[in-house]
Amino acid sequence: MSEGRDVLGDSQQDTKQQVGVTNGIDHQRIEAAVREILTAVGEDPDREGLLETPARVARMYAEMFSGLHDEPRRHLGKLFTEKYDELVLVRDIAFNSICEHHLLPFMGHAHIGYIPNGRVLGLSKLARVVEVVSHKPQVQERMTEQIADLLEHDLGAKGVAVVIEASHTCMTIRGVRKPESVCVTSAIKGIFRDNVSSRAEVMSLINRKS
Ligand SMILES: [Zn+2]
Repeated sequence: MSEGRDVLGDSQQDTKQQVGVTNGIDHQRIEAAVREILTAVGEDPDREGLLETPARVARMYAEMFSGLHDEPRRHLGKLFTEKYDELVLVRDIAFNSICEHHLLPFMGHAHIGYIPNGRVLGLSKLARVVEVVSHKPQVQERMTEQIADLLEHDLGAKGVAVVIEASHTCMTIRGVRKPESVCVTSAIKGIFRDNVSSRAEVMSLINRKS
């Protein structure tokens, strides 16, 4: 995709010119905070191996939280007008996000099915929407709802089914330590909610293991 610059609106880029702040992310402040955490856990932030760590973490957060400064609706702009009014289903859209309770990553796949209402979204835009919604402090349930809401309200889809399967490192590497656990969430809108057989059809297609 040739959309590297897409993450930042041009106007936003022009207005954010405070020192150390790029694209809404205050790198200097993150660096100071990371040094503080390292000191707080009993580390020496000035030892050689850690010298570059605060700056690296700041760049990582800028990437992982870029969705805070983007608007997923923007990616619904490029629509194709199509007579097609049957199911569009995209499975296995890989994503990674950061759980807002522990600031640890969770990652997995989103499966999205919708029935268009005269307007079809480019497939790469669907992946783009997932990326913007996931690149912020998140919870999986809200992320699932947000994607479904966007497709229902902004795309005007007649039916929407979003299923997300993810592994949460806050459950696998700490706390209850269940390394195999996968959390599945779903959001069902429109005809898929009202019509049992359409819902069964889309869910069976989403769940089919090819
Ligand atoms: Zn968590």
